Amino acid sequence: MASETQAGQVGGAVLPLPPMKWDAWGDPALAKPLSEDIKGLLTAFLGVSAEAAAAPLAAEDVVLRPSALSPEDLAALAAAVGAEHVSAADADRLPRAGGKSTPDLLRRRSREPQDAPDAVLLPGNEEEIAAVLAVCAERRIAVVPFGGGTSVVGGLDPLRGSFASVVSLDLRRLDALHSLDEVSGEAVLGAGLTGPRAEELLAEHGWELGHFPQSFRFATIGGFAATRSSGQDSAGHGRFDDMVRGLRVVTPAGVLDLGRAPASAAGPDLRELFLGSEGAFGVITRVRLRIHPLPAAKVHEAWSFPDFATGAAALRAVEQQGTGPTVLRLSDESETAVNLAMTEQIGGEQVTGGCLAVTVFEGTKEQAEARHERTRAVLLAAGGTSLGAGPAVAWEHGRFSAPYLRDALLDAGALCETLETATDWAGLERLKTAVTAALQGELGSGSLVLCHISHVYPTGASLYFTVLAAQQGDPITQWDAAKRAACEAIMANGGTITHHHAVGADHRPWMDREIGDLGVKILRAVKDAVDPVGILNPGKLIP
Ligand SMILES: Cc1cc2nc3c(=O)[nH]c(=O)nc-3n(C[C@H](O)[C@H](O)[C@H](O)COP(=O)(O)OP(=O)(O)OC[C@H]3O[C@@H](n4cnc5c(N)ncnc54)[C@H](O)[C@@H]3O)c2cc1C
Repeated sequence: MASETQAGQVGGAVLPLPPMKWDAWGDPALAKPLSEDIKGLLTAFLGVSAEAAAAPLAAEDVVLRPSALSPEDLAALAAAVGAEHVSAADADRLPRAGGKSTPDLLRRRSREPQDAPDAVLLPGNEEEIAAVLAVCAERRIAVVPFGGGTSVVGGLDPLRGSFASVVSLDLRRLDALHSLDEVSGEAVLGAGLTGPRAEELLAEHGWELGHFPQSFRFATIGGFAATRSSGQDSAGHGRFDDMVRGLRVVTPAGVLDLGRAPASAAGPDLRELFLGSEGAFGVITRVRLRIHPLPAAKVHEAWSFPDFATGAAALRAVEQQGTGPTVLRLSDESETAVNLAMTEQIGGEQVTGGCLAVTVFEGTKEQAEARHERTRAVLLAAGGTSLGAGPAVAWEHGRFSAPYLRDALLDAGALCETLETATDWAGLERLKTAVTAALQGELGSGSLVLCHISHVYPTGASLYFTVLAAQQGDPITQWDAAKRAACEAIMANGGTITHHHAVGADHRPWMDREIGDLGVKILRAVKDAVDPVGILNPGKLIP
């Protein structure tokens, strides 16, 4: 890796690197090449050609824009966190250059000079974070808090706003289980803990958080809170924001310790202002979370529905009757068909067409069985056909591996990306049809748009779309046009611009329509109060 001014002076990373590969998803050892059969299907049905794909670069061949920080800036930052926790080396900057959206990964393949934070800092405690924010406010340096690095909405773009430089504040050292209250069922976790490490620390005491987004293995407690993440067990355990009992946040204007009691009538709930604040209001350092005992039993059952409308009505009935599944999800006809083509058999059971639904139940043996029986009665009455446990067990087994396929698809010349929204049950089909049409309108009728419901509420549900097309021309421009069309369709058809991926830089242009001009003014007023110089994540969240 060489910067424009330091070509040839390639140094190794000074700081511990993020665990993910810099230009792909996840652990390189788990990368999944596509079979020749799948490549053949992609060519036959989508016209995909590997010749259209930009080849991945070796890290040594990436040209980074040089760091804009002066020696004086670096010395002041070193005084705040310790010299051993600051680096302006390219090898440290490149892995924090952005998140893991498809445009992020495609940008990493560019031979043009790439942007990256001007330095990386690894603070070890709140005092150091406060000191960094003070230095950055004084020296006018933008700050991007960095959790697991899994943002898919440009939340980690190294944007400088009106400042000349930007630093990445990597929070991995905030990795403690601070306290466990087994009477109340609460734990205080450090913001930098990854999902697996948090679960490991709780499991040592027989407890579980139960937040399993697809990015679970790499994303962090602070990142979940900052983005209002939603996990695959949300039917049973709720969204991450539902689990939050309290937060500590370091802002440039001081420290906030929010959430005194399980419920309170002491005015508007300020925790809500910091949940989903995406690093623009402060740095979340600790989160107090509701936890539950590790489940003693699990029951799985998969279902087939003749079509999406029947399946969606069945999920609605389950949720509105509160029968208690932990996992409840439904793939549409296209997603079910593609899963079949990719796996031939799902979990040893031959699934033929229709729409696949997965249910999982947890708790004590009695609770899991009772929840299962109640739910299966509703699903049977709603037109479902049981496929047994196999496909649901298989789904759970592979639930974190799908993102690896995207890297192989990009290499093969396919464009592959996801987006999500949510709306009320009454408008769900209309929204799904409109978003699908908008995406295919831009990407051509040969593109594939797959959809599933994975988060349900008594009054509505989320829709998660996966898009597959042949790369044509510049795939970033190609995707930008499709994404814009989908966002317009979401806004025009009653959806939210994001159900769980957050706003970042990518959804920011739609925020005024999401919350209105007065809503934007309120967010700006809060920002002025907690971050008067505006150093935290400029260009994200707030229009
Ligand atoms: C393959 C894949 C699958 C995904 N699946 C899901 C899913 O199932 N459900 C879901 O909800 N999301 C999902 N996401 C999106 C992403 O994982 C979530 O947004 C996650 O919550 C981000 O956590 P993180 O620790 O990686 O944060 P980062 O990506 O590092 O940061 C996200 C944003 O929060 C800010 N931030 C991070 N930590 C802090 C902090 N401590 N204080 C203040 N601001 C902070 C950052 O500046 C940034 O703006 C997925 C992403 C990918 C790539």
